Amino acid sequence: MKQLALIALSLLHIAFAQSRKYTLLITNANIVDVAAGKIIPHQLLAISNDTVKAVDDTKFAAKYKAEKQYDAHGQYVMPGLWDMHIHLRGGDSTIEANKALLPLFLAYGVTTVRECGGDITPSVLKWRRQTASGELAGPRIFTAGPKLDGPHAVWAGSIPVVTPADVTAALDSLQKIQVDFVKIYDSKISGDAYLEIVRQAKQRGMKVTGHMPYTVELKDAANLGMDGSEHLYYIFKACSSKEDSLTQLIREREHSDRPIGLFGALPALYNSFDSAKAARLFQFLAAKHFSITPTLYISKTLAGIKTTDHTRDSLQKYIDPKIIATYAGRVRSARRQSDEGTKFTEKYEALVMSLVPKMYKAGVNIVAGSDCGSSNSYVYPGESIHGEIKLLVSAGLTPAQALQTSVINGSKFFGVQSQFGSLKPGKCSDLIVLGQNPLENIAAIDRLNAVLSHGKLYSRTDLDALLASIRH
Ligand SMILES: [Zn+2]
Repeated sequence: MKQLALIALSLLHIAFAQSRKYTLLITNANIVDVAAGKIIPHQLLAISNDTVKAVDDTKFAAKYKAEKQYDAHGQYVMPGLWDMHIHLRGGDSTIEANKALLPLFLAYGVTTVRECGGDITPSVLKWRRQTASGELAGPRIFTAGPKLDGPHAVWAGSIPVVTPADVTAALDSLQKIQVDFVKIYDSKISGDAYLEIVRQAKQRGMKVTGHMPYTVELKDAANLGMDGSEHLYYIFKACSSKEDSLTQLIREREHSDRPIGLFGALPALYNSFDSAKAARLFQFLAAKHFSITPTLYISKTLAGIKTTDHTRDSLQKYIDPKIIATYAGRVRSARRQSDEGTKFTEKYEALVMSLVPKMYKAGVNIVAGSDCGSSNSYVYPGESIHGEIKLLVSAGLTPAQALQTSVINGSKFFGVQSQFGSLKPGKCSDLIVLGQNPLENIAAIDRLNAVLSHGKLYSRTDLDALLASIRH
């Protein structure tokens, strides 16, 4: 009797499993295995809300019941893109304009962003919650909240820190609002305060990245546990055979009437670039699980401002005029640059770009970030991360490696790689559907047919409707 009951129970269990309904079934997919750099053809993905529940051969599709089906025949399915360096900022008058950028990310297949500091933090925190709950169409948001800097910082909203007590208070305030990481900026911060932030943040288990004052040596920050470096200037400084003496000189002149700024130091660093030291640095950073965000696209865009006519950029119609207005500052400073300065920038950019594949080979965690957002002229949300990924390929990464920097390495920075980076059972189902194989031609990331974000499927028609909704 007892045995019969058990059999009945297990039969019931099987029946329940078979009648279980998934929210979405994607069939006939060529899954892009970004880590391995290969295509797994003819797959099905059974998804419930924002989680992949099963991956199987499409020939078993009859076993899977779902509320919705998507036939991905002839298409390529991969995890959604991450943009690891964006900004939502510009003051309270730009809150709505910034909010309208969120669907623009989705329309370009960006399902996660790392917001690297700004001045509209309460709104960003609200959007982080609303996009997660599905109330608002937009990517997953990791945010730094306000940047940390010295007194009278360049960027509005930054928290000024000087003393260790300031650092404690600043980190308390960031933890209170549950930021996802700490972003340090280098407009006014002292070297001591900088290293103190890293020390205290690591004691609290917070992730830290950012710029770095040239009075600090990168290895000192990395030895304290700093998690990453934004842009390549700070990495480049540590590749100089004269790093020690130049740093010393910069410290000595810091409070004099002839201070040496970052750009003032670059030519000397360029002339003392040491490839053997660079190789050792990359090994050291790899061992520290250090992340580097090269932001090649914004460098190229800003370097080309003088000679590029942006008035007809097709993306401008999706950017609020209030944000376009903030582009003027960088345009003015670019126009002021001398021809000699422009020539040096080109030389410098070529050299730092050539370092990217070397860092990758050494095992440094390269992450793709666009630096899009207000004030960063003509670097449009969505399109710019496509541009960054393509430039990483131009720099010498394979398409698979360049895609890894976006869809895998971003999650490594936050230590959440067990939930992201591949379409495996139990992982997040944020994904994009492409019309062509991105491993053969990276430009395929522009051929976006659908996006699944927070469990909601956006067809090409839906994505176009999203774009239409924010058009000016
Ligand atoms: Zn930035």
